[in-house]
Amino acid sequence: MSTHELKPGVTTDVGPDYVRAIAPYQAGKPIEELAREFKLDPATIVKLASNENPLGLPASAQRAMEAAITTLGRYPDSNGFELKAALSAHYRVPAEWITLGNGSNDLLELASLALLSPGSSSVYAQHAFAVYKLATQARGARHIMVSAHDYGHDLNAMFDAIADDTSVVFIANPNNPTGTFLPAAEVGAFLARVHDRHGDRVTVLLDEAYNEYLDPELRVDSARWVEQYSNLIVSRTFSKAYGLAGLRVGFAIAQPRLTDLLNRVRQPFNVNSLAQAAAIAALNDAAFLEQSYDLNKRGKQILTEGFARLGLEFVPSYGNFVLVRVGDAARINLELLKRGVIVRPVVGDGLPEWLRISIGLPEENARFLQELTEILGAP
Ligand SMILES: *Cc1c(COP(=O)(O)O)cnc(C)c1O
Repeated sequence: MSTHELKPGVTTDVGPDYVRAIAPYQAGKPIEELAREFKLDPATIVKLASNENPLGLPASAQRAMEAAITTLGRYPDSNGFELKAALSAHYRVPAEWITLGNGSNDLLELASLALLSPGSSSVYAQHAFAVYKLATQARGARHIMVSAHDYGHDLNAMFDAIADDTSVVFIANPNNPTGTFLPAAEVGAFLARVHDRHGDRVTVLLDEAYNEYLDPELRVDSARWVEQYSNLIVSRTFSKAYGLAGLRVGFAIAQPRLTDLLNRVRQPFNVNSLAQAAAIAALNDAAFLEQSYDLNKRGKQILTEGFARLGLEFVPSYGNFVLVRVGDAARINLELLKRGVIVRPVVGDGLPEWLRISIGLPEENARFLQELTEILGAP
């Protein structure tokens, strides 16, 4: 996906209408950029804006990359043999069912490239991950946005919204930026209904970027759904709980009819050598994953207790971030920036009164709550 940013107000007169209609993805502000803008010391800035793992890179992954660095004169393994073998063992699916991506965003792009075109459509939920709309628009396909229910996906309405020209349904579970979650029984029933009614004509892309943050009793072995449904693609990422956001590595699991298709539009060297090495190490680092989960769970508690104390509405979150209603989000965001705290405005997601706060280290969460409390106390 292109994240090429045009300055607001700049118009362009080249390219297809459907590309010019795209509102570029707004990424979380980098620390260095804020430091320059507001003349702040980067060391004092807290960034809780991009759902990154506050523990940073796992040491195991760093060691794996140090060992792999001597191979960088050569192209990466185009087939990602070792990483696919590790994923295949971990998820108990054939390696031939796995597609690697340059982040899981790459897989969303590959799926839209392979399945959408002018004359077809995708279905996704209001307030769902912004990339579903972007990837659809870039193909010149129609996008059908289905109203959210309590900030989450309304699967019945999404089922009803599937049109004759629909080729993809995107589901984020948990969803970003709202943090909502659909229980396994609901997703399972939806998959069965879609496959019964539409067979292989409609592909469901189940995006599980935050799966590892779910409490164990809520997790589902979605690879088993892939065995059952030939129209399902499940995507996962190493960017969140595994702590490898900067490396860009994710993967999809699907039966060969879909995996083959994704592979046709994939750039041959889309996942670099360091990313492949680091992902194998991270996948085997159960201790790091557990630490990430525990830290997130405690941080979520601290943030939501803080919001309750301040009388702020929030959406119960199943991810590593919390969506909170602050009212004049643009003003609160600016005040936070001036104080060196970066969070994520979600006005572009249709949530102008809300901010999305990524869960950080204990001291980062405390600093954010302290600044927010001061800002709200002094309107
Ligand atoms: C973060 C996120 C992704 C993954 O992004 P990558 O870094 O490209 O793997 C995918 N889907 C959702 C819903 C996300 O929030």
